[in-house]
Amino acid sequence: MKKSLKVKPIENGTVIDHISKGKALKVYKVLNIRDDQTITIAMNVPSKKNEKKDILKIEGIELSKEDVNKISLISPNATINIIKDGMVVKKFKVEIPDEIEGILKCTNPNCITQIEDIVGKFKVEEKEPLKIRCIYCEKFLSSIEICK
Ligand code: ZN
Repeated sequence: MKKSLKVKPIENGTVIDHISKGKALKVYKVLNIRDDQTITIAMNVPSKKNEKKDILKIEGIELSKEDVNKISLISPNATINIIKDGMVVKKFKVEIPDEIEGILKCTNPNCITQIEDIVGKFKVEEKEPLKIRCIYCEKFLSSIEICK
């Protein structure tokens, strides 16, 4: 008998599709997913035009606006599908916001947000390639680390 591993479609939850190849784990890590939540990660799935993509399915949760912003910074072409009773009730593409509050940390060690406990605020100056400037010290981030 041929063995097959079937992935059951989810009943209620969120499917993050079209994640850039190899980025699904990074997306998973920045989202606040509880240890007991059922997730399915598919990596290097053939997509259109010989491209490959990753998919992340999370049962029982809807993403917050902040979560969607985090995903956009990791994988700007990802799409979010909200599933209710086995049907896609909402589908949208993530979008890099023009302004970001929290999520990131300023990389300038002399920035006030590094010295005092202040939530970072940033302006996205360019989306491709990503260039983000701190509103407090006006320096561009040298690397983009997303906080959980
Ligand atoms: Zn700063």
